[in-house]
Amino acid sequence: MLYKSFQNLKLSTLGMGNMRLPKVEGQGEKIDEAKAREIIEYAYDNGVNYFDTAYRYHAGESETFTGKILSQYPRNSFYLATKMPGQMMEYKNGKYNFTGLLAANPSRSPAELFEEQLEKCRVDYFDFYLLHCVCESAWDFYTNEEINVVGFLLEQKKKGRIRHLGFSAHCRVDTLDKFIKWSKSRFPNGCFDFAQIQLNYMDWVLQEAGKKYDIITGHGLPVMVMEPCRGGRLASLPPEAESLLKKARPYDSIPSWAFRFLQSLPNVQVVLSGMSTMEQIKENIAVFSKNDPVTPDERELLDEAIKPLLNLVPCTACRYCCEVCPQNLDIPKLISMYNEAKQKDPFALMVLNFTFGAMKKEELPSSCIGCGACAKQCPQEIDIPGIMQKFTELMEKK
Ligand code: SF4
Ligand code: SF4
Repeated sequence: MLYKSFQNLKLSTLGMGNMRLPKVEGQGEKIDEAKAREIIEYAYDNGVNYFDTAYRYHAGESETFTGKILSQYPRNSFYLATKMPGQMMEYKNGKYNFTGLLAANPSRSPAELFEEQLEKCRVDYFDFYLLHCVCESAWDFYTNEEINVVGFLLEQKKKGRIRHLGFSAHCRVDTLDKFIKWSKSRFPNGCFDFAQIQLNYMDWVLQEAGKKYDIITGHGLPVMVMEPCRGGRLASLPPEAESLLKKARPYDSIPSWAFRFLQSLPNVQVVLSGMSTMEQIKENIAVFSKNDPVTPDERELLDEAIKPLLNLVPCTACRYCCEVCPQNLDIPKLISMYNEAKQKDPFALMVLNFTFGAMKKEELPSSCIGCGACAKQCPQEIDIPGIMQKFTELMEKK
């Protein structure tokens, strides 16, 4: 495993992202504990020392499970990161209004939530703590002067309950820059130690991740990377794209290109990969055991390879939207099907028609009532109700 210095620490360049742990078939977000334990233990035994979870991952189970597994190891042998779920929190007229997972118990303050997280994770401090998903819709909550979430977290840092404070962001480029500037003027002695963004060779252009990387770097913060394979989208590419990459490096896997791309960016600190199988963790550890960044020619090849993907709906299957859908639609599955339908591959369309026919009426995109609750939660800013409508129309034409 390769390590990089972060302040006085040595962090593994591959981090274990506990958002996509293996799940029990047919039981929603329920973690398959035996399989997930094997993966996390393998990661730890093979040099991974950065473990990332969040309040909302696996419908609230990820923190509990991560804490349970890591508690078997000495506390100073791993670094644990989790996040304040501000995107599900609002504060208006002196009252909190929580949505999604938090709606069942809406009376908690951020301070109470923080205590709950420490308890769930079985620790008395977090090595890394982030504001989760700084974006346009969470702006008011994170910058609200009255509740002063960042000030509260800085107090926790002073008490040693947070070692390093950061934020994750899915926002637009201008919002990201504005947020860092806001933090510097509000807390002139500094508040953030790092930033986490979605960064991969597809989003470098598609979501202007290259510009975000430059902004964060320009502000002197190291970058933690999430979605290096874009929720699996870059783990297997369309046949013509795969053959381009295979021709260049026949023995390399397709995901390894995504990781080698990130190795070419000097300010990338840790690459968080949400690994769901033993095969993935073994392969990723092998890739991060040597420094082999893509060359300029290989970067051009990657630009060519992703062209067919750029017109697809950029869903990463994070499932945040599913928490709030009153129709209980499996939105990422429907978007994935919609992307298939747009490929115009006759065989894929035949399979899709068959799948559609086997689905219940209430599972189809036509069940969407257009309420828009999902879109407010989507870090990728996807117009989900619009896609449901387009998908319905597309299938009606067939
Ligand atoms: S707009 Fe449609 S998909 Fe989105 S939450 Fe409402 S019903 Fe569900
Ligand atoms: S539509 Fe958006 S919120 Fe829903 S799973 Fe995809 S990326 Fe996540």
